Amino acid sequence: MEEIERKTCIVCGEPKEEGITIVTEFICTSCESEMVQTKVEDERYPFFVRQLRQLWVRFHA
Ligand SMILES: [Zn+2]
Repeated sequence: MEEIERKTCIVCGEPKEEGITIVTEFICTSCESEMVQTKVEDERYPFFVRQLRQLWVRFHA
């Protein structure tokens, strides 16, 4: 049996196996690609920006 490490994605809040870690926070692959495809006029865009801003705030603190 293989033990797979799951991290909780800060955007969707789901435990995922694949994704990227920025500073100390984890973003899953699906949220990352969704963010890349999200246009500024998309209603979800402010949500993504807000989630990411938390990272920058912590990083620059
Ligand atoms: Zn996610």
